[in-house]
Amino acid sequence: MDAGQEKALEKLGAFEISSLMLKLAKKNNHKFLNAGKGNPNWINTKARLAFARLTEFGVGESQRTIDRRDLAGFIEKKGITERLKDFLDPQLHKNDQFILDILDYVSQKLNLDLDDFVAELTNGIMGNTYPTPNRILKNTEIILNKYLESTLYNGVQLADSTKLLATEGGTAAIVYLFHSLAENHLIKPGDKIAINTPIFTPYLQIPKLNDYELVEVKLQADPDNDWKVNPDELDKLKDPSIKALFIVNPTNPASRAFGDDILDKIREVIKENPNLMIITDDVYGTFVDGFQTVYSVAPQNTLLIYSFSKLYGATGWRLGLLAMNENNIFDRLIHELPPAEQKEVNNRYRIVETNPSELPFIERIAADSRSIGLYHTSGLSTPQQMMEVLFALTHLVYANGSTDSYIDECRYVVNRRYTDLVKGLGIEADNSRTNAKYYTLIDIYKLAEEKYGKQFRKYFVKSFAQIDFLMKLSENNGVVLMDGVGFGTQPGIIRVSEANLPRKSYRIIAEKINEVLEEYYNKYLKIKK
Ligand SMILES: *Cc1c(COP(=O)(O)O)cnc(C)c1O
Repeated sequence: MDAGQEKALEKLGAFEISSLMLKLAKKNNHKFLNAGKGNPNWINTKARLAFARLTEFGVGESQRTIDRRDLAGFIEKKGITERLKDFLDPQLHKNDQFILDILDYVSQKLNLDLDDFVAELTNGIMGNTYPTPNRILKNTEIILNKYLESTLYNGVQLADSTKLLATEGGTAAIVYLFHSLAENHLIKPGDKIAINTPIFTPYLQIPKLNDYELVEVKLQADPDNDWKVNPDELDKLKDPSIKALFIVNPTNPASRAFGDDILDKIREVIKENPNLMIITDDVYGTFVDGFQTVYSVAPQNTLLIYSFSKLYGATGWRLGLLAMNENNIFDRLIHELPPAEQKEVNNRYRIVETNPSELPFIERIAADSRSIGLYHTSGLSTPQQMMEVLFALTHLVYANGSTDSYIDECRYVVNRRYTDLVKGLGIEADNSRTNAKYYTLIDIYKLAEEKYGKQFRKYFVKSFAQIDFLMKLSENNGVVLMDGVGFGTQPGIIRVSEANLPRKSYRIIAEKINEVLEEYYNKYLKIKK
């Protein structure tokens, strides 16, 4: 590939470039390592086994009312808990104890009516009715609120005042949200929104779409300070012309969580810009010990996006949540729109609500997610909702304070891979609390200088398109990594995912990176002669 072609490639999105690299790697190498993907290579087994057992139980329950060959009936709620306890046999099926422990937990700690809960769970898994209420099922919302509180709020109690919308992964939550913010005139063409960069690419790509014409204000993470955002950067947000702030925390690709200094700064900022809408994507929150979400610091200003994909290895399930406080500025800002605009915006929801001005923003998102006309059949599929509940309960039932053995295992796995990678490259590990270690950003120009000196770095930067390094790495060495530029980094930054490959691969990836750098250096030595 010549330099011109490489330049053209740089314009593609990071994920698209990565799939091209993968093709090159596959073509020339029998064995290849793809550390570009964020998809974890682990899964949570406990919740999945419980789902399977409850499927068996649910079929038996359905056959109690009609039983004709493969056709069965509806489930009866009365007495269902006792029948479930009779069905379960922890002696024979070890994982049945989890379901029994769930029953104790939800009745004792959450005061749920057991028959009501078991019927919701069993019917939900059977998927025999439309999701009702459509935003999220009743007991489901209580449990998932407790889960978010326990994993993300760092002791701040917001479970009772938070409303949830269950979505098809974090992806759908993001798409629905952008759409409803625009439909409700909360963001308008030409409005300024701020994002912390580098950031998960969809956030960089959506705002450019013609629907929105948003202006990005970058809050640049500092590569010389372990990719932390300098708190002073947030002073920009005091400008009231900035309508919204979109953050990924911990960040993707840098994988760092906001420390207390940033959280304090956010408190300060919303005092001066009280109408600032904050959208925080916390899908990596559980990878950081003592994580605290921006939602818990500014609950009225913040809308939280969560996904079960990464922690529980459930990307194929499509499990996400959108959370917001019942007392929030989004609802207030809709009420404060100029009368004509308010009328227009509210009219949109007339077919689903007789008094649409009272329809909360989160319900509007649910309605918009199905183009309003299909609001009555909106909502995440009930089996998906029950899978969210079961994942959440693996945490809630067994977590002891902030310790959850499953979450600890996940952190242990990524930490080992991270350690091998940085050791292999000879760079210093960042073992500070806020490093989630799900991804690592490597500055290849800096690495080049550290290994072979300033002059070589200059030559390297000048002589090759930024993508050339990644191409060589994939084409000749079978290692696929991701270009940071697509996430908004400066050239020369590459992302390694610690999620997707077995531990032993990370030493090899480091070796291959070192080898390719050495190749460039040998070329340089020849030219110098
Ligand atoms: C992976 C990822 C998502 C997507 O989550 P899904 O639930 O799989 O759709 C959202 N946001 C960030 C920052 C991610 O890294």
